[in-house]
Amino acid sequence: MRIETKCVQSGYTPGNGEPRQIPIVQSTTFKYATSEAMGRLFDLEDSGYFYSRLQNPTCDAVAAKICDLEGGTAAMLTSSGQSANFYAVFNIAGNGDHVVSSASIYGGTYNLFAVTMKRMGVDFTFISPDCTDAELEAAFRPNTKAVFGETIANPALTVFDIERFANAAHAHGVPLIVDNTFATPINCRPFEWGADIVTHSTTKYMDGHGAAVGGAIVDAGRFDWISHADKFPGMTTPDESYHGVTYAEKFGLGGAFITKCTVQLMRDFGSTPSPQSAFMLNLGLESLHVRMERHCENALKVAQYLEQHEKIAWVNYPGLASSPYHARAQKYMPKGTCGVVSFGVKGGREAASKFMQNLKIAAIETHVADARTCCLHPASTTHRQMNDAELVAAGVSGDLVRLSCGLESAEDLIEDIAQALAQI
Ligand SMILES: *Cc1c(COP(=O)(O)O)cnc(C)c1O
Repeated sequence: MRIETKCVQSGYTPGNGEPRQIPIVQSTTFKYATSEAMGRLFDLEDSGYFYSRLQNPTCDAVAAKICDLEGGTAAMLTSSGQSANFYAVFNIAGNGDHVVSSASIYGGTYNLFAVTMKRMGVDFTFISPDCTDAELEAAFRPNTKAVFGETIANPALTVFDIERFANAAHAHGVPLIVDNTFATPINCRPFEWGADIVTHSTTKYMDGHGAAVGGAIVDAGRFDWISHADKFPGMTTPDESYHGVTYAEKFGLGGAFITKCTVQLMRDFGSTPSPQSAFMLNLGLESLHVRMERHCENALKVAQYLEQHEKIAWVNYPGLASSPYHARAQKYMPKGTCGVVSFGVKGGREAASKFMQNLKIAAIETHVADARTCCLHPASTTHRQMNDAELVAAGVSGDLVRLSCGLESAEDLIEDIAQALAQI
């Protein structure tokens, strides 16, 4: 099946007389005839449902669709993109370990890595996605367990050279984890370029309607944990909390990562999505391919309009021919990139803020990737504690406006921008 068909059909196939739409299994628990039958689930001898903190049929059906869209072997949903990235990294890196990460990533992920996971004893080295080969090589340590990057970074919109970072990770015997939130599998499938694990904030385009926070983790099933057994003892040595099961042996390369992540991390941290949220996510997925095309078309038209406007200082959109990331975007995302455009309004912080107040369609929100156009002025909101020098260091200039183009008419969006600029 082509990806458009997978968006609509994958993950759930009803039998005779069964509901056409994915049933919302709103149940915390599942009934068994004998304690022995249930005990086999606890020993991971049988697969089945017993408690929705670990697994739920509605969530699993939606995870299976995302797995198919990315071309993976196993997937799981989480309650947020934050928990997806935390689980994906913590599943293979713990106290005393090290991870190489692109410095150009979502602010929440940066905080998770640099502050919270550091408190858990995981060290991160942040490098530019455009670093030299020598800088990339120097970032690895003997205790490095993974490499991490975002296909298109939020909010910097840098494009990650997946193939190059995958080769570097594999040369050091570790997997590449790619957060594919902004591109979505419609525009880029990181597994086709060598990535081993993909994560998502499904809150963004996959949901697409600003309705439910969520996340997902998908495994390509290719990383050979057994060949690097010394680096990944959690995968290759017995887990005493499950009567000595060894994940890489019992579940194979295709299943080990997601099974371990579910039965250890979901069991212990419990960042599980509700079946209701998973159902809503699936409604979003059914139209993801149709929506992504329009998001990208609108963003390109808006970016081209802004680029020639005399009151605009600069425009950053990887779909623009003038973008330094254009060639890389063409390689990894020939169909389009994403609906988010960032730009500077001449006159700096004050002009940017006034411009946004004047917009009638685009609402001021911290959200992106919604059907409704929204915008954010980081300097006066998410980054307001920083002075001008600190903002520059963070790659967020005072004049920067982040505009997430929705599914409205591009002509209406451009007219709205035109009238808002005319007033400043
Ligand atoms: C929003 C976002 C996250 C965090 O996801 P939540 O669902 O808000 O927890 C992670 N990565 C990227 C690229 C994001 O845009």
